[in-house]
Amino acid sequence: MGLFKTRRLGKTYGRGDSRVVALDSADLSFPSTGFIGIEGKSGSGKSTLLNLLARLERPTKGLIGFKGRNLNRMNPAERLGFRQKEVGLVFQHYNLLEDKSLLDNIAFPLVLAGSNVEEAREKARNLARGILDESLLGKRPDQCSGGEKQRAAILRSLVGSPAAILADEPTGALDEENAIKVMVLLKRLSTKRLVVVVSHNHELLGRYADRVIYINDGTCQERTKKTTPKPISVGRNSFWWIKEGAKESQRSWRRLLSCFFACLVGFTSLLCSVSFFLGNEPCLYKERIRSLDAGVATVSYEKIVSTDDSLLSLVVQERPSFDLVRDALSSLSSYSIENDYSFLLPESVEFLLSGQKGEAEFVPVASLSGDYAKELLNEGNLGKDDLSSCLVNQAFIEKYGAASIGRSLIVEEGGTFDGPGWQKDIEVKLSLLVAGVVEEFAFLNSPRIYYSYPAISNWASNLIVFSDDETTLSLKNLCDSATSDSFYSNYKYRIFVSDKKDLQPFFDILHSFSTEDAPLTFTSRAYLSYVSFSSLSQALSACLVVFLALEFVFVGLVIVLSVLSIFTSSRKPMAIMMALGAKKSSVINCFTIPSFFSIGLSACLSIPLAFTATAALNFLFEDLFGLRRLLRLGQNGIDMGLFLGLIGLLLLFFLISFLAMSAAFRHLSLSKEMRDE
Ligand code: ADP
Ligand code: MG
Repeated sequence: MGLFKTRRLGKTYGRGDSRVVALDSADLSFPSTGFIGIEGKSGSGKSTLLNLLARLERPTKGLIGFKGRNLNRMNPAERLGFRQKEVGLVFQHYNLLEDKSLLDNIAFPLVLAGSNVEEAREKARNLARGILDESLLGKRPDQCSGGEKQRAAILRSLVGSPAAILADEPTGALDEENAIKVMVLLKRLSTKRLVVVVSHNHELLGRYADRVIYINDGTCQERTKKTTPKPISVGRNSFWWIKEGAKESQRSWRRLLSCFFACLVGFTSLLCSVSFFLGNEPCLYKERIRSLDAGVATVSYEKIVSTDDSLLSLVVQERPSFDLVRDALSSLSSYSIENDYSFLLPESVEFLLSGQKGEAEFVPVASLSGDYAKELLNEGNLGKDDLSSCLVNQAFIEKYGAASIGRSLIVEEGGTFDGPGWQKDIEVKLSLLVAGVVEEFAFLNSPRIYYSYPAISNWASNLIVFSDDETTLSLKNLCDSATSDSFYSNYKYRIFVSDKKDLQPFFDILHSFSTEDAPLTFTSRAYLSYVSFSSLSQALSACLVVFLALEFVFVGLVIVLSVLSIFTSSRKPMAIMMALGAKKSSVINCFTIPSFFSIGLSACLSIPLAFTATAALNFLFEDLFGLRRLLRLGQNGIDMGLFLGLIGLLLLFFLISFLAMSAAFRHLSLSKEMRDE
């Protein structure tokens, strides 16, 4: 009775121009015992025929009968049973699982079919007696010679006592001595079962085969009788090898580990970026407010003077009406409006401080009452009305020592002043008391004196610049009465806000007057830095969004590449397992679940890691990273949306790559994976 029988069996690959007829209408019959050789040139279709018999490929036409049963009609369970119990496969390059010992490789099909591991090993050991040295059994394939590996592969094909052993070029990679040993072994085995050996070695086949089938360009022929069907039973896949499969190769372990670390770094850096994204803005805002050293502005009124018949118009700055300014500031609780005499003082002067000479930039700060100065500085014992005190910034103090607080500062400047009908040399000599320090932006820290504005006002009113019998004119009088085009015109008011909590409303007012057609023109250094801070923080946010997007793509790529590398490293061992009769879905699970876990675990671990990292960074950069803000999500709709969106997209990435990997595993072509390189 024939064991295998084929009728009009054919296999074509590809379509159209690239169509290859690998096997054409083969009518063959294989007996239950004996050594059948299949011979032909390379590319003639020998492997195709063997793969069809082993059911590693589906035929494109024709039938294969096995023990009288149509192999094409087998359901998945029957196919498993067929691979586990009915056929044993041998390949040119052995296809052993690289990280298992020869003994475990031999025992593997038994375990797959549900045997106890120790019994399977025992049986494998008995089977190997006389064929492989006992000492070799514990070695891994890469520690053995080709001949030894091939004998182990033959033992593996034999261990389930199959009805047939199908061997594709089993001697192809061996030297002559080993090739003969293998042929002798196969010949011995063929007394009790069918052994089909594909080879292009005419001489060897002629010596050992009972019968040789020649294939030429996919064509071969043989006629036989019909047989009756018999059902094929299935062995249950044991759980053991799922475990074993998961740790199949050291290489895949390493890949799993590198996948874990790559994802860990990716996720953690992504979280850190998100936290920076969430943290930078409030932090900059805080810094912005902190850096506002003084609520000082000047205000003037811009009058447009048009000349007739001309397209040109002239803008003249005038002193606005006091009421207009007061109305504009009415929402503030602590402010004062003073005439501006600061133009009388240069912006930078030499000063004397206890005998030391130095250069400093002058910034007028007035109406800082002693209390406010004290509150600012916790320093000094200034009287409430002592307005001739002044503030200096931190850099100034660092340069001249903390002892300068409370010391007097003498500012000397002189020049020739003139007015209608008079000219006079005037010496400016101001004695100011250093009241304390203001906090300021580090990069603006040139030594700076904030002079006391009322002190100047006082000085100006005491300084008589002109007097005759009828009139006495102080510098202050002169400035107040001068027309706006005169050098002495104090066409501006100075506004001083002394309460810090009024700063924000104050800047809001300045902002509302920043349009071109506003009636009042405010200028304020502090406001300028406030505004540039906000545009800085906007620009930073825009950059961060781009950065986050890139980072996100990077993490996505890491996931895809990790999954891809796991796929590449596992396809071969998977194919071997499936060819030996392992259930496809279980094999896929045992390869995908570990990587799924490794990525999931890295995602989970990245959270505490990112928290620790951001805590450390916050320690260095004072709250710049706002990961903790994630915990208070929901207070801010945008943050919440952003975060959930990111997580969702990552999950999507994750799912897609896994679905893609599972699909790729599902469509793995066994014959292609097992093909001899
Ligand atoms: P050999 O006799 O050397 O074992 P094969 O059976 O491997 O030959 O191949 C027979 C023909 O089928 C060759 O021309 C080969 O290129 C082609 N072939 C085999 N497998 C595939 C495949 N998966 N896709 C396309 N062509 C294939
Ligand atoms: Mg071949």
